[in-house]
Amino acid sequence: MKLILLGPPGAGKGTQAKMLTERFGIPQISTGDILRGAVKDATPMGMKAKAYMDAGALVPDDVVVGIVQERLQQDDCGSGFILDGFPRTVPQADALKVTLQDLGKDLDAVISLEVDTEALVERLTGRRTCCNCGRGFHVKFDPPVSPGVCNACGGELIQREDDQEETIRKRLEVYREQTSPLIQYYREEGLLVEVDGMQDMNRVQDQILSVLRAA
Ligand code: ADP
Ligand code: ADP
Ligand code: ZN
Repeated sequence: MKLILLGPPGAGKGTQAKMLTERFGIPQISTGDILRGAVKDATPMGMKAKAYMDAGALVPDDVVVGIVQERLQQDDCGSGFILDGFPRTVPQADALKVTLQDLGKDLDAVISLEVDTEALVERLTGRRTCCNCGRGFHVKFDPPVSPGVCNACGGELIQREDDQEETIRKRLEVYREQTSPLIQYYREEGLLVEVDGMQDMNRVQDQILSVLRAA
């Protein structure tokens, strides 16, 4: 299964990707998680990316395209992958097309998660993220078993620096301007499936599963 999860910040891409990963044993490729890892390790790429991420802007295309090209060639992507948060611009989508052609792989579907703006803001302001494994929780919609502690790995839950309301609004604007054109892009490719992301997370997952059965 080769899948893109498309949608604005807070739509539930990471949540759904993790559920799919557990079910199918294929990797989640989250450019956001990879970039945050690079920032944490203070690699040259991380140092370059940090200012963009803190400002709620996109990291330059060549950086993220390089990350994904490298990641897709690893062995664990042999039986499929879930791209979460990539592509985010038309040039990234064009680069992905070339990369997949070179690797002889075809996408099965692009799932667009649709969520109202005010719900996105509520989800992002209440999001808590494991600083160890990257799993997301929500203070109201998906609270951890013990407050402040990741259910999956026991890591500490933190609020991401870019999950402050002002940066959230900026990221939503960036999404509208630079990423939302990909909806039409993949519609034209015949790959787009729209899923109502306002439903609870298990229902969203069920709907994605039925899309995949039909793909
Ligand atoms: P994205 O990866 O698209 O930015 P996340 O998966 O991190 O989004 O979800 C954003 C926040 O919303 C998280 O705190 C998550 O727990 C919560 N969330 C995810 N899906 C739902 C849902 N269907 N209903 C309510 N809250 C959700
Ligand atoms: P969210 O789903 O909440 O928007 P992500 O974890 O996907 O968050 O991304 C966090 C930040 O990492 C983005 O705001 C951006 O700065 C950077 N980033 C992640 N993926 C990309 C990408 N494909 N292109 C450019 N920047 C990216
Ligand atoms: Zn964790």
